Amino acid sequence: MDYDKLLEKGIKELPSISQEKDRFEIPKVKGHIEGNKTILINFTQIASTLRRDPDHLLKFLLRELATPGNLDEKRLVLGRKISSSQINEKIESYAKIFVLCKECGKPDTQIMKEGKANILRCTACGARHIIKTKI
Ligand SMILES: [Zn+2]
Repeated sequence: MDYDKLLEKGIKELPSISQEKDRFEIPKVKGHIEGNKTILINFTQIASTLRRDPDHLLKFLLRELATPGNLDEKRLVLGRKISSSQINEKIESYAKIFVLCKECGKPDTQIMKEGKANILRCTACGARHIIKTKI
């Protein structure tokens, strides 16, 4: 077999499907509207999938959505009607800022304090980024 054929074979055998599988999926909210309130039933689950403190995620969401809200056991109660797509969007931006590594896209990260700065450190590739958004 010559080199071109080998190359072709190599390309064909690239595991494109498993790559897709490895990609981290940001969890989507589940819940419903109750009167004038929005109830999310999987909020703490989302926080634990993102491996972040629920209070941290909550603060961000309430500020971004400009709504009052509180945790009631495991349910998150938001003080007004908000569509799930709007909340998903905010959780996505939270993940991009506070969870996903900007180099490799993996969620295996930790937030560390260095002086006054918060650093997002990736345990998968070792990249470090300063988190500019304050909560
Ligand atoms: Zn990384």
